[in-house]
Amino acid sequence: MNEENYHVYSVNGPVVTVKGGKGLAMQDMVYVGKSRLIGEVVGIERDHATVQVYESTTGLAPGEPVEQTGAPLTLELGPGLLGGIFDGIARPLKAIQEKGGAFIPAGLDIPSLDEKTKWDVQVLVKKGEQVQPGQIIAQCDEKGSIMHKIMVPPTLSGEITEVSPDGAYTVRDQIALLKTPDGKEHSLTLSQKWPIRQSRPVKLRRPVDQLMVTGQRVIDTMFPIGKGGCACVPGPFGAGKTIIQHQLAKWCDADIIIYLGCGERGNEMTQVLEEFGELQDPRTGKPLLNRTVLIANTSNMPVAAREASIYTGMTMAEYYRDMGYHVALMADSTSRWAEALREISGRLEEMPAEEGFPAYLPSRLAEFYERAGYTDNLNGTEGSVTAIGAVSPQGGDFSEPVTQTTKRFIRCFWALDRELAYARHFPSMNWNTSYSEYLTDLAPWFEERFGPKFAQCRERMARLLLEENKLMEIVKLIGSDVLPEDQKLVIECAKVVRLGFLQQDAYQPIDTYVPIEKQYRMMDLVLYLYDSAKKVAQQDIPISQLVSTGIFELVTRMKYNIPNDDFSLFDDYKKKIDQAVEQAINKNTRQTEGEVKRA
Ligand code: ADP
Ligand code: MG
Repeated sequence: MNEENYHVYSVNGPVVTVKGGKGLAMQDMVYVGKSRLIGEVVGIERDHATVQVYESTTGLAPGEPVEQTGAPLTLELGPGLLGGIFDGIARPLKAIQEKGGAFIPAGLDIPSLDEKTKWDVQVLVKKGEQVQPGQIIAQCDEKGSIMHKIMVPPTLSGEITEVSPDGAYTVRDQIALLKTPDGKEHSLTLSQKWPIRQSRPVKLRRPVDQLMVTGQRVIDTMFPIGKGGCACVPGPFGAGKTIIQHQLAKWCDADIIIYLGCGERGNEMTQVLEEFGELQDPRTGKPLLNRTVLIANTSNMPVAAREASIYTGMTMAEYYRDMGYHVALMADSTSRWAEALREISGRLEEMPAEEGFPAYLPSRLAEFYERAGYTDNLNGTEGSVTAIGAVSPQGGDFSEPVTQTTKRFIRCFWALDRELAYARHFPSMNWNTSYSEYLTDLAPWFEERFGPKFAQCRERMARLLLEENKLMEIVKLIGSDVLPEDQKLVIECAKVVRLGFLQQDAYQPIDTYVPIEKQYRMMDLVLYLYDSAKKVAQQDIPISQLVSTGIFELVTRMKYNIPNDDFSLFDDYKKKIDQAVEQAINKNTRQTEGEVKRA
């Protein structure tokens, strides 16, 4: 053992103390031990450094060498990420499996990108051209899903002194040679590296004013999120967090999906794989997986890699954003991520804050969510990263630190509810406690497409639910019989809103995704029913007579009976409502006449 060089001094789970040597800096990546485990420097003291290791440290012993890389933990970005499944530090799981079987062998240094695949590259720069950071210099088709733009790394600019002709290249082949103003030459390939904990630079951050269409009614209509926005989905176990994330990944109108399975059960990840593999991308007809990156850090994988995984995912998201794409990043679940943070912090013997989480939990969460946004990119394109994190608080208690801290950085709060889930009302998003602060910024988007009426309908529907809420207090105490007819009508209509509109079955082929136009028509129909039925209530005719025509059930079932691509049936439904109202009134008139005669 050479005492002069860095070596392992002690091992405590994923936390390793390193002594000897010099030159280590915070966040440097190192190789730890004989099997060269990947680690990152998280602390430096006068006589030792602390390293967090991303792989199992079983078998690692004091005295083993530690190798410096002199650079932070970086990610290689380039064509071939789409369709891939990676671990928390972006090692492809398939390649790992081929080399090591079911378990990830320690110290396996596998590049993220396949080095053999040849990409059909079209080169877009000329010799002698001056290029700027982020400029697009070449492109190639990636998996038939998108055009992958090859960009000058954000840190470089200068003159192109050599270019390769169009052709088939691997990620290792040189595409162009760049001479920076200091005279240094840089070989540009299809790939580039970026430190995962640093956000990639942009020209400008823009307001979030473009709706991200998800096809989920309770989201798009009631609590919408814009492209580049941040949302969290808190909810107790079984409330439907994972299903919502899957639904968004499948249906939202982002170009690229980064799906992060973070500390959840392994079989959920398998489910994603199976489902996405079968699903067709509505734009290209190719498997949805072809525009998805999966990062799997299930509960049985090392905790430190779980801590890194959200930054790995975010870095990939920013990379595709820089090409001018809209990216949606789902993390399931950020609570498991925070637990990894807590575990490592505990081993570092740091002073714990609330519930044992480290005092820097808020800054770490902020570092993640603040990287989302709608941006003007360095190369003149625009793109976005939308971040959606599930939060799984113990016992569904939203007052715990992860939920509360996350709330400070997100603007969409989609609160899933145990009671609703128990009553099989899915998505179990509680309409009283959920909110979207994007409503104002998105108002012009809706206005442009639907005029002022969309927002009006939304408000009226929300008011119905609110009124129902109040009335139910009375009903609980003394029953609904005492209510006047107009209030009984509120209760009937609010029920249609809940069952017919808010409830949406992820497993029903028509209902699983609903275009925004249909969402609008559905709202309109429910409110048409409400307004028409008011005529009945105003004449003091019992609402039960209208209920007995079956019109409320019919409208509730519109979601299954009206197709997603032909809205003409909505007019038929309106006629049926008119008829039902007429029928209820006539029936009543006949009854009253009968009563008069008998008298
Ligand atoms: P969580 O991740 O919060 O623990 P899941 O997302 O796994 O919960 O959901 C639990 C179950 O709830 C699912 O297996 C499914 O049966 C049901 N569920 C959730 N959302 C929906 C939905 N939109 N439509 C139909 N069923 C749903
Ligand atoms: Mg889940």
